[in-house]
Amino acid sequence: MEVLSSTHRQALFFAGTSQSQSYALHGNARKVQSFAAGAVKSGGAVLTHKAFDEMPLSSTFAWNNLIQASVAGGDIGHAILVYQQMLSRGVCPDKHTLPRVLTASRLSGDLLFGKQVHGHALKLGLYGDRYVGTALIEMYGWLDSIGAARSLFDKFTCKDSVSWTVLARLYLTENKPQLALDLFGEMVNSGVTIDSVALATAIGACGRVKSLHEGRKLQEIARRCGLESDVLVGNSLLHMYIDCGSIDDARGLFDQMPNRDVISWTTIIHGYVKQGGFNESLKLFQQMNKDGMKPDAILISALLPACARMTACKHGKEIHGHLLRSGMKLNLTVQNAIMDMYMKASCLEYAYKIFKEIDSKDVISWTVMILGYSLHGEGKLALSLFHKMKEDAGIQIDELAYGAVLHACVTACAVEEGKFYFNCIRNRNITHYTLMVSLLAHAGLFDEASAFIEESQIERHVEVLRALLDGCRIHHEVKLGKRIIEQLCELEPLNADNYVLQSNWFAHQEKWDMVDNSKEMMNDMGLKPQKAYSWIEHRNKVHVFGTGDVSHPRSEKIYWQLEQLKERMRKEGLLPDLDFSLHDVDEERECSPMAHSEMLAVSFGLISKQVGTAIRVTKNHRVCVGCHDALKAISKLEQREVIVKDLRRFYHFRDGLCSCCDLQ
Ligand SMILES: [Zn+2]
Ligand SMILES: [Zn+2]
Repeated sequence: MEVLSSTHRQALFFAGTSQSQSYALHGNARKVQSFAAGAVKSGGAVLTHKAFDEMPLSSTFAWNNLIQASVAGGDIGHAILVYQQMLSRGVCPDKHTLPRVLTASRLSGDLLFGKQVHGHALKLGLYGDRYVGTALIEMYGWLDSIGAARSLFDKFTCKDSVSWTVLARLYLTENKPQLALDLFGEMVNSGVTIDSVALATAIGACGRVKSLHEGRKLQEIARRCGLESDVLVGNSLLHMYIDCGSIDDARGLFDQMPNRDVISWTTIIHGYVKQGGFNESLKLFQQMNKDGMKPDAILISALLPACARMTACKHGKEIHGHLLRSGMKLNLTVQNAIMDMYMKASCLEYAYKIFKEIDSKDVISWTVMILGYSLHGEGKLALSLFHKMKEDAGIQIDELAYGAVLHACVTACAVEEGKFYFNCIRNRNITHYTLMVSLLAHAGLFDEASAFIEESQIERHVEVLRALLDGCRIHHEVKLGKRIIEQLCELEPLNADNYVLQSNWFAHQEKWDMVDNSKEMMNDMGLKPQKAYSWIEHRNKVHVFGTGDVSHPRSEKIYWQLEQLKERMRKEGLLPDLDFSLHDVDEERECSPMAHSEMLAVSFGLISKQVGTAIRVTKNHRVCVGCHDALKAISKLEQREVIVKDLRRFYHFRDGLCSCCDLQ
């Protein structure tokens, strides 16, 4: 949502600027403006002074335009210089001069100069002017404090919608949305005419407070003020409803909006993506195209993760095809997003194709591909890609790229290389430390891992402990595992997953009274372990399975298929190992492993999908050791590729082997 909110903020910002600028803009001033712009462009002190000499002394208007052109052109120093020249030549500033000069002082960060202008305003008797007053409030808010701005505002007698909005925005900048919202309430009570920018600012504040109740009240105000059909207000309301978590309110509004623009479509589609309503977001995207609305890069980047979550590249390919057909120039951001989508939808070869086609790859392109390979178990390929990236002199390797290569070292079990890269990182963060622990623990170097944790003083980070626990799971380090579980329970007493680990551990030791204790504790604390689900897409529909689920219409066939497979595994000596000692899903230990959700989804895939096609399943939890073994066996017995994506990575089961080399 980050991209979207920044666009939205931009939209608000531009809308606001144009309004405050409308204070300062005069009518027909083309001649003077072009003169002023010319003077700014020509730069150079000599020319500038020549320009000043040519300025009519009687026309404040011409000087104002020169200041305006300098501010608009980003040459703040020049704007201030023009003002000083104006004063020294005896030209009298007016109510249009001071707001521009105050803007210049705000942008230059010069509070002292701003205070001088404040003094000029008092001397010139312009203090009470609303343009000048608003500019002063804004200047003090940015350069001094919100308190200074507020006290000025309170003394100010000609408040209008713009001055109220300026103060509200200052509160938002200070991350005080509730105060901005309260201020809007005062504004409504004061009887000032409300415009769309003021309302949109208040709605934005409401989204940040996440108060649906207040939000609905604001929509009512919009209706009363006749601003409901305003596209800025409408888009702000949409965004706010989504921020407040009510996609239904957002959709109701969207369907009634008389004027929708790309931002409206982007917002609602993004809202569905955020809520997991992937089918709906894709439907809206198609509708948008039918309506002749051209999606932009931001929308495409919003939609692609939806396709990735489906673990099937069909929709992603559709959008990619749409982009190619539409002739839209794909910028690097979109290319990176498409690559990321293919990678997450486990279509590595497509991702790599895009990667190869990008002419000027940036560090993100490389990072996505390196991490992609690693997540799919291709650690060596990921490392060789990193070596290539290092040869590209134009690329500055950043912290994220180092994170990706450390991940690759874990996958490839390249301990020495990982240590080398870790030492190259200048600003290490906890992710880097966690990956180092992961690297050592995966390689079974538990003493070294423990020493590293102690030395780096990261023993109180749960992610570090979990990385260590992963190593224990692989190397059956049950004793150390138990200690880590105890630490986790201590650090995060309200996380149900930790007690699940604990009870599974006791169950493995057959300490049933302790299992009961753990469960009772969870009950007493009102903690509910997360349920495990797996899903598979077939013919445009997502089929979801829970543990031991019998609700699917084809359940009978699904279980029959699994029974057959189990029988064949028994004959071939491929029956899975059942070790739940360090597993973190509660219900799975007590259920027959063949009825775990991913097995049901895979079995459904086997009976529904064409022979020879890969079966792609996603799970919201970790795959247990038993299912991992069983899936290896199934890939061999059925000669089918099975790709499972769980919380942490992708597993490609092929011909009896798994891409993780059993380092799951
Ligand atoms: Zn399982
Ligand atoms: Zn594996």
